Amino acid sequence: MELACLDLEGVLIPEIWIGFAEKTGIDELKATTRDIPDYNVLMRQRLDILNQHKLGLPDIHEVIATLSPLEGATDFVSWLKSRFQLIILSDTFYEFSHPLMRQLDFPTLFCHRLITDEQGHIVDYKLRQEDPKRQCVKAFHGLNFRVIAAGDSYNDTTMLAEADAGILFRAPDNVIAEFPQFPSVTSYEELKQQFIAASARELS
Ligand SMILES: [Mg+2]
Repeated sequence: MELACLDLEGVLIPEIWIGFAEKTGIDELKATTRDIPDYNVLMRQRLDILNQHKLGLPDIHEVIATLSPLEGATDFVSWLKSRFQLIILSDTFYEFSHPLMRQLDFPTLFCHRLITDEQGHIVDYKLRQEDPKRQCVKAFHGLNFRVIAAGDSYNDTTMLAEADAGILFRAPDNVIAEFPQFPSVTSYEELKQQFIAASARELS
């Protein structure tokens, strides 16, 4: 009774806002929580920029549909689903990630919502809860699942710590240095081996 919990951006797909900024040429949309640590300030700025450029959800979908999952991600997801129940835990928004999730054959995704008006303009957003990835792992434990989790960044570390096994995938050097307790790998093949090893640890 094991669940695999995966982060989405940086693990299976590119950073969506950065990809979107590159496709549209709107450089201000490249700002991340590294530039603006307060997530709410960052999101307000992103929504203002979208509105200035008169970009509604249909335009955004069109652009994001031209992005692709990372090379090898689709095969990795298929493999993972054949061995584990897979749940993606992400800080993205359903409406934003939808075109990329289609390319991954719509694995289960727990994330946040954007709020749009009738014309498709994004007027607000709704975060599902605080520290959502960690809260999910806690809840899965309450359902008697064992959890193996992988992610690439700071917003994954509470999930990795809460899980029975946590793995860093293609994490930046500062995250690897700060969280030496988690094994760190860079290829899907290595990530597979980590999942297999973590799963075997339970059985032994
Ligand atoms: Mg990520």
